[in-house]
Amino acid sequence: MNFKTHINGGVLIGLYIGSQITKNDILSAGVFFGGTIIGSLLPDIDHRNSYIGKKAKGISKTINKLAGHRKLFHAPLMYLLLYSISAGIPMKKVYFIGITGLFFGILSHLILDSFTIGGLPWFYPFTKKKFSLGKIKTNSKLEDVFCGILICINVVMLLDLLNITSIFTFTQNYKSNVTQGIRNIIINTK
Ligand SMILES: [Zn+2]
Repeated sequence: MNFKTHINGGVLIGLYIGSQITKNDILSAGVFFGGTIIGSLLPDIDHRNSYIGKKAKGISKTINKLAGHRKLFHAPLMYLLLYSISAGIPMKKVYFIGITGLFFGILSHLILDSFTIGGLPWFYPFTKKKFSLGKIKTNSKLEDVFCGILICINVVMLLDLLNITSIFTFTQNYKSNVTQGIRNIIINTK
């Protein structure tokens, strides 16, 4: 998948999961959302020609040489291990929310890559076998359609969260929290 699809996957999971876990707190929602966007692009650091790989050429080249593409940096078990370790480190709540967002973004990336023909090494390093759930080729017309669907869902979700529409019922919960959060900020800054 290309970076546009991955960013939209990150936006989707950032809005949806963020709306569920960051109650009454706009700062946390923002931190979580920022984390998911970075996380949605991060695994492709193992590929020199990816969007993030081009931004950090030196790091990307080194990682690609050492770890290869779609191996260690696309291994769900590795991220699960890292997240478990980070959960055990004492830190401010807001940092942990950011890290949680980062890992949800990475999860969205791994799920999306699973729908490509190449698939994903879900059980790496135990097996190098890649599992594919779909037949989408990166930068193909089919991916454009898929990305378009994600964009539509994101736009509707955002309109819901801004109280402009109420199409998705799961955003109702967040709606009241956002308004409550804005109210809290206004009260506190008075
Ligand atoms: Zn990838």
